[in-house]
Amino acid sequence: MVYEVKCAECRFVCENKAISKKNWTAYRCNNRRSEFYKTTLNISIGGAEMDTITWIGCEFGERQDTK
Ligand code: SF4
Repeated sequence: MVYEVKCAECRFVCENKAISKKNWTAYRCNNRRSEFYKTTLNISIGGAEMDTITWIGCEFGERQDTK
């Protein structure tokens, strides 16, 4: 499925300071409407910490520049 907004472009992305490390910043979804609420978005299926957010998005994503 292709969503209009990818997580990397979504305004609901926020840092998850609870699990971030000195050399890795964790990002999570902060949209209560999304099924991915609180999910870490820059981690691989295998659990590897990634620098970029590659999560596909969801139907409730909104662009960062949306007012
Ligand atoms: S899962 Fe949806 S609401 Fe959450 S950050 Fe990604 S696109 Fe935005």
